[in-house]
Amino acid sequence: MDRRLVLIGPPGTGKGTQAQMLSEEWKIPHISTGSLLREAVESGSELGGVVEQYMRSGELVPDNIMLDVVKERLSHNDVSGGFILDGFPRTIEQAEGLDRTGIDIDRVVYIYVDEDEIIRRLLSRYECPKCGYIKGAENNKEDVCPKCGVKLVRRADDDIDIIKKRLKVYREQTEPLLDHYKDRGIVLEVDGNGTVEEVFRRIEKGLIDEDKHQE
Ligand code: AMP
Repeated sequence: MDRRLVLIGPPGTGKGTQAQMLSEEWKIPHISTGSLLREAVESGSELGGVVEQYMRSGELVPDNIMLDVVKERLSHNDVSGGFILDGFPRTIEQAEGLDRTGIDIDRVVYIYVDEDEIIRRLLSRYECPKCGYIKGAENNKEDVCPKCGVKLVRRADDDIDIIKKRLKVYREQTEPLLDHYKDRGIVLEVDGNGTVEEVFRRIEKGLIDEDKHQE
């Protein structure tokens, strides 16, 4: 079955980790707009130059730029069997832009976690600068990426003031988007507390139960 999924939730709820796991399980691409933009910044491309300042300050990159980035990515052949969008859409404007492409989203997985826990997680988050692998907060010993062998680093925007800004931006601009999808009855709400495996099982079970429901 094709899966065209969107993961929504504040930063630090484990969307990236869960998207990576779902992508491996279902063999469909994980499309993280944050990773695409960080790659653009690192490569020194024109796009990277434009988006760097927004990312550094925890602001959203303008919708027209994001829509171009995502439309380009969704034009690749590897999305024909489905995809997992992580970090997009983040505004009503982006969701409407995605609707206009004619690509139907099957499910929106909304992962929720308390803000205190989010801050705790983001302040102890390390990730691989090469492949985006994220070290779980519970995994204290790891300091190199198990896939690439590269030293894990903290993200520049995982700084307390920028985290607070990102949470505010999420509440004001992204949360209202849930209603856009709730009206269509495609939102699966998942408790993001607990271990990575527990959350993964909740998502899988929720999606499978809903599939059965629709049969
Ligand atoms: P993330 O890795 O998803 O936390 O994204 C990191 C940063 O990239 C965000 O704080 C934004 O500056 C930018 N970004 C990623 N995705 C989007 C999006 N869909 N719309 C606007 N800005 C985005």
